[in-house]
Amino acid sequence: MAPPQRRDITTPARVRFAPSPTGNLHVGGARTALFNWLVARHTGGTFILRMEDTDRERSTPESEAQVLRAMSWLGLDWDEGPFRQSERDDVYRDAIDRLKAAGAVYEAWETPEELEAQRAEARANKRAPVVRGRRDWSEADIEGFRAEGRQPAWRFAVDPEGTTVIDDYVRGDVTFAHTSIEDFVVARSDGTPTYNLAAAVDDVDMGITHVLRGEDHLSNTPKQVMVMRALGGTPPEYAHIPLILGPDKKRLSKRHGAASVEDLRDEGYLPEAVINAIALLGWSFDDKTTMFTTEELIERFSVSRISKSPAVFDMKKTQVINGRYLRRMSDDDFTEVLLEHLTHTGFLAEGGPEREALVRRTAPSVKRKLSTLEEFHVLAGWLFTPLEMDPEAWASLTEDVRHSIQVIGAGLGRLEIVEPFTIDTVKEVLQDQLHILGEDARGFLEPQRAAITGKKVSTGIYESLVLLGKDEALRRYRATLARLAEVWVA
Ligand code: GLU
Repeated sequence: MAPPQRRDITTPARVRFAPSPTGNLHVGGARTALFNWLVARHTGGTFILRMEDTDRERSTPESEAQVLRAMSWLGLDWDEGPFRQSERDDVYRDAIDRLKAAGAVYEAWETPEELEAQRAEARANKRAPVVRGRRDWSEADIEGFRAEGRQPAWRFAVDPEGTTVIDDYVRGDVTFAHTSIEDFVVARSDGTPTYNLAAAVDDVDMGITHVLRGEDHLSNTPKQVMVMRALGGTPPEYAHIPLILGPDKKRLSKRHGAASVEDLRDEGYLPEAVINAIALLGWSFDDKTTMFTTEELIERFSVSRISKSPAVFDMKKTQVINGRYLRRMSDDDFTEVLLEHLTHTGFLAEGGPEREALVRRTAPSVKRKLSTLEEFHVLAGWLFTPLEMDPEAWASLTEDVRHSIQVIGAGLGRLEIVEPFTIDTVKEVLQDQLHILGEDARGFLEPQRAAITGKKVSTGIYESLVLLGKDEALRRYRATLARLAEVWVA
């Protein structure tokens, strides 16, 4: 049976991305940002950026700057903001005053120990460990608390008999019985607003029509809706998007490889490829298409196709997608993004114009072989340093020293007299020599590769020779032969 048709957002939406600037923008946060951005762009709506920095201890300007950088790099441009909750204190204080005036909140005098005892008792009686503050203190009690220097927090008076129903775009109707929702704090004893208060006030104040956020926020939603209603506001509509797991089905974390957007950038992923990969975390167009340009995503994205089940982030898949983007580029475009990447990582700054020229010459021969730009160093790093033998390459050469000397020597003999030294000419003579010796391609060409690159993996052998240039190539042949000869006579 076909699943019931789900709703879509069809009118211009005002949506927001509301990160807490307490760390790096990671894959999960970027996915939330992207989904909101896509809804805004798809519906011709507005994308608002709001820093939820009410946690003064954990929020840092560096983290905020990092989030903004990562979003700009991804191309997720915002239409309004960035707003900062830390700069909106008067808005929250005003809302708290209105809640007080409406009788929706009450002063809570309990100490942390008293609250813990309440929770423990509820647990012992198999009830949800929810806190309900006492509201029947006498004037004398309160005077006593004040004399002790206690300050009350403000809790929202949840109607324990009630229910709140959220008609979620992804999960359908979700009903929350208030018996399991505690009288949550809206203002701390120092007067500062809590996250649930600030988020609710901002969503109404900023005219947010749709909230797309991680499923881990689902339990906050009824609380925020209660606050909004108590303030006479209209709650937005909600879409709670599924959790992201690693391939081992555990919650995504650093263990699963680069988890922050800036790490992905440093490792040589393209922003379009990252966007493409994270778009597929809990959303699909038709269950089979895996490649989408950003324009296609804007056109095709719909909340009705967001999955309820957890998404799996697989670094390998992201690599595959990235490799496809790289291979699709023209040589010129690829060269430019490679140069940009190597500038970003500092590799080019170290080497001056010669290094840049060599990168330019090398770029076309690595394009088809890379899945990330950082892999450039694996394939072509050897070109930028004096010959250095990897232990594996040396082991393969010394496995049969006599044979290695024979094929490398024969290769050298032919290359010494090749003119001009081009891919076609070196290929022709090496192929010819291989046939003369009756060798197979591997047995003949792999030692040539090891002789000049010191590696088992590199750019193609003919290209490698030409990139090095004849003089340097011959020098490396001779150096490797000399080393092999030492082993041979020993
Ligand atoms: N600041 C919250 C977070 O970073 C997001 C809250 C929301 O989207 O409502 O998890």
